[in-house]
Amino acid sequence: MGTDSPLEESFGKYIWCELCGHVYSAAAWVAADNTCPNCGASIANARPWEEIRQLNPQYPVTPVEGTEYALYS
Ligand SMILES: [Zn+2]
Repeated sequence: MGTDSPLEESFGKYIWCELCGHVYSAAAWVAADNTCPNCGASIANARPWEEIRQLNPQYPVTPVEGTEYALYS
């Protein structure tokens, strides 16, 4: 398996930005030169969606891209 995106390899399909709280696909981060497509935060501020979801089990497995999710809801 595997993907052709190193970002997706390390973060999974969706990435949550700890600066603005928005979630985008790994592909969208890559398209924005490995920055948050919403606020331009660097990859250092990226967290795997799965990690956010573990803190908030009610969050969907597949988030709505471009939506803001609180770290703790
Ligand atoms: Zn952001």
